[in-house]
Amino acid sequence: MRRLLMAGNWKMHLDLRGALQLATGLKRALAELADRDVVLFPPFPFLADVCDVVEGSSIEVGAQNVHPEAQGAFTGEVSAPMLTSVGCRWVIVGHSERRDLFAEKDAFLNQKLRAALGAGLLPILCVGEHLDEREAGKARAVVEGQVRACLSGFRAEEMERITIAYEPVWAIGTGKTATPQQANEMHGVIRALLGELFGASVAHATRLLYGGSVKPGNAKALMAESDIDGALVGGASLKVEDFVAIVRA
Ligand code: PEP
Repeated sequence: MRRLLMAGNWKMHLDLRGALQLATGLKRALAELADRDVVLFPPFPFLADVCDVVEGSSIEVGAQNVHPEAQGAFTGEVSAPMLTSVGCRWVIVGHSERRDLFAEKDAFLNQKLRAALGAGLLPILCVGEHLDEREAGKARAVVEGQVRACLSGFRAEEMERITIAYEPVWAIGTGKTATPQQANEMHGVIRALLGELFGASVAHATRLLYGGSVKPGNAKALMAESDIDGALVGGASLKVEDFVAIVRA
């Protein structure tokens, strides 16, 4: 059985005080829900402090982005060894906001995944189609293309440490959620492709998260689907009550 993984992407929100309040509230509220994995993704400046707050709980911490190089003249960037040195265990790679607003392409994301694994981080690779691509009947081809390109060159053993989040771009921050059936159908497509690329046991073991306007009111129906193994949550991860309700679902 795949364990549920609930991830909270705080994006570029909060200040230090707000981040510490949120992390403290979640640590308290999630203490009795240790049977599922919970990872928080605060902005870079708050990572070390949030790691300190959740120490001793089952909550883990990750970064929202990483640069492929370990060090060098890359002003404004953060490397994988830097992230592990402050206590991060996870990293998001290829969020659609990185792809669309910062022009990050699959080949670059492939390098980021390689760097993350090299440093011992657990990456969550995000994939997903835009609305016009879905309306043109190209959603499946787009998502398959992203998975193939981003995971090109990886071995089956390496896939044990990679999680994939299917996030239809039209559902992110819009209040429009994919129906549980739409989401599960795409998860089935991704799982079948993982089987083709890496074999049946990798396909069976890889956790596939859904992301896109997950809220307390829709989380249960999404999590009930056979191929949905958790959620990547943006807006609703910024309120203790909402995120706890989603984790409970
Ligand atoms: C996200 O940031 O990955 C996301 C899914 O955001 P939201 O839940 O706000 O749609």
